[in-house]
Amino acid sequence: MADFALNDDQLQIQKWVHDFADQVIRPAAHEWDEREEFPHPIVQQAAEIGLYGWEFLMNAMSDTSGLTLPVAIEELFWGDAGIGMAIMGSALAAAGISGNGTPEQVMEWVPQCYGDAKKVQLGAFCVSEPDAGSDVSSLRTRAIYDEATDEWVLNGTKAWITNGGIADVHVVVAAVEPELKGRGQASFIVPPGTKGLSMGQKYKKHGIRASHTSEVVLDDCRIPGRCLLGGKEKLDAKLARARERGHSGEKQPAMSTFEATRPSVGAQALGIARAAYEFALDYSKERKTFGKPIVMHQAIAFKLANMATEIDASRLLIWRAAWMARNGGFKNGEGSMSKYKASEVAVRVTEDAIQILGGYGYTREYPVERWHRDAKIHTIFEGTSEIQQLVIARAISGLRIE
Ligand SMILES: Cc1cc2nc3c(=O)[nH]c(=O)nc-3n(C[C@H](O)[C@H](O)[C@H](O)COP(=O)(O)OP(=O)(O)OC[C@H]3O[C@@H](n4cnc5c(N)ncnc54)[C@H](O)[C@@H]3O)c2cc1C
Repeated sequence: MADFALNDDQLQIQKWVHDFADQVIRPAAHEWDEREEFPHPIVQQAAEIGLYGWEFLMNAMSDTSGLTLPVAIEELFWGDAGIGMAIMGSALAAAGISGNGTPEQVMEWVPQCYGDAKKVQLGAFCVSEPDAGSDVSSLRTRAIYDEATDEWVLNGTKAWITNGGIADVHVVVAAVEPELKGRGQASFIVPPGTKGLSMGQKYKKHGIRASHTSEVVLDDCRIPGRCLLGGKEKLDAKLARARERGHSGEKQPAMSTFEATRPSVGAQALGIARAAYEFALDYSKERKTFGKPIVMHQAIAFKLANMATEIDASRLLIWRAAWMARNGGFKNGEGSMSKYKASEVAVRVTEDAIQILGGYGYTREYPVERWHRDAKIHTIFEGTSEIQQLVIARAISGLRIE
């Protein structure tokens, strides 16, 4: 049975992350948003206290209730989403390795996505391409096996990659047999310093501007055979089954990673929404019009009531999904429901917060316009809202809705 009362450990972690978000991240948020650069000094501080690190991630992921990670992420993103993404970006690579690699590969490569406080390292998960975002079955990046040298040769261009080109470890999803679409794909580790991997254009973004997003270009990029996640034997067997039956019944490597991380992405959006709601509530008690605080105007009070209700509804969906992910898995697209709801709520709540602050809300003097810009990415990355609806519709109907 799900129990949503946080235990002492979870309450302690919640406070620990909140204090870091409050004392270190928030004061730095505006500066790094304006600079549009990866906030190395802040990630360094997070590594020094153990918040940026594979041990923290693994501990949080091993919690049987599933709640530790979303609780921590909500606080982190309450601090700031751009810096939050800089701290969480490597987790997607780690999830890609954990979801597809052998135990030995997980132990070898996940720590390298983080490094340690003496030498902070980064990971990147490279799936999307200029012509394949939602439609991950159409990847053009090719992986060809060179039997003579026991190497894989990667060629292609990845688009919109968080930590792309600045990461130490790149996890790349590529087509081994393109005619098998998603079933013919595999995930590969590109180790630090590998020739043939370079950064393409760095994107200038609407929000989460402290998070680095770039193209990754793979040009005859040769990696050792052991860098195929899951190993060659497993891949050969999967491809053989897919060739025989037209499909293997196994999930695409990218999709299984995204499915597992959806409640966490919902928690990111939730943190932003809560930040904006709390700010707007405080402001509404201070700002006076027509002789009274604006919260005393029912139009504003009802807006705040709706914001609070929607935020709590999002959190319940996220916690349910996080619990289900650890206790039997999703049945009716609950992971997608949590990400879909929380991200749409974050966009609406941050917009309402701007409205409550009026003209001040529209300026960069106050953080609510940044929160609104930051919220929007959550309806786009790791599966757009439309793709989440598709996943839910397929799960509840049992039909292959297109
Ligand atoms: C800041 C940022 C960071 C990112 N980080 C990463 C990363 O680290 N790694 C990575 O691999 N990718 C990353 N992405 C890519 C992201 O996951 C994709 O942008 C996203 O999946 C959408 O793909 P697309 O941009 O190609 O849009 P498209 O797939 O072209 O979609 C365009 C529109 O059509 C809709 N649509 C598409 N197909 C359907 C359908 N079947 N039914 C209904 N509507 C549909 C979409 O919902 C959307 O509204 C990142 C993107 C951004 C902006």
